[in-house]
Amino acid sequence: MAQLKILIEGYTSADSNGHACSTIVLVQDDGLNMIIDPGTLPSQKVLIDALSKEGLTVDDINVVFITHSHMDHYKSIGMFPNAKALDYWGWWEGDFWKDCNGHVNENMSIIKTPGHSNDSITLLVKTKDGTIAVCGDVIWKENASEHDKFAVDMETLKKSRKKVKEVADWIVPGHGGMFKNNR
Ligand SMILES: [Zn+2]
Repeated sequence: MAQLKILIEGYTSADSNGHACSTIVLVQDDGLNMIIDPGTLPSQKVLIDALSKEGLTVDDINVVFITHSHMDHYKSIGMFPNAKALDYWGWWEGDFWKDCNGHVNENMSIIKTPGHSNDSITLLVKTKDGTIAVCGDVIWKENASEHDKFAVDMETLKKSRKKVKEVADWIVPGHGGMFKNNR
């Protein structure tokens, strides 16, 4: 089973006087140290300090997962010298690219969840507490208003939310803390 921890709880410019950062997540599973959506950050030190509380440095991170290509989610992607990147298109290692076909490892898989953006994906992580869906801005935060003014296609987004809610026990949204999915 994988272990998942929120390192930085995200916030939005509407709530935080112009400051915006995605929720930044650490997933660890049998030698894999993955950061999801390294965000914008006031400074890199904020994330370096959060990693150090977990006994990790930026050198230990071997995968960076990006839920979608909006700046507030990926601006800090270059912080991790040893990490492969994983996004909508697949694995990126150096300048080499290959499709991952939705498979990460035995405890992690990817579903396509477009609507907020065309390239939005959700990572499903099997943990001892059940399946956690890390869905980026498919859901901004718990009890967010249903209308997403940044969505490229609201109808498609609604279908993606339904897809996430069908499979998740817990949801990590794009800009807030984890919450239980009441199915
Ligand atoms: Zn966002």
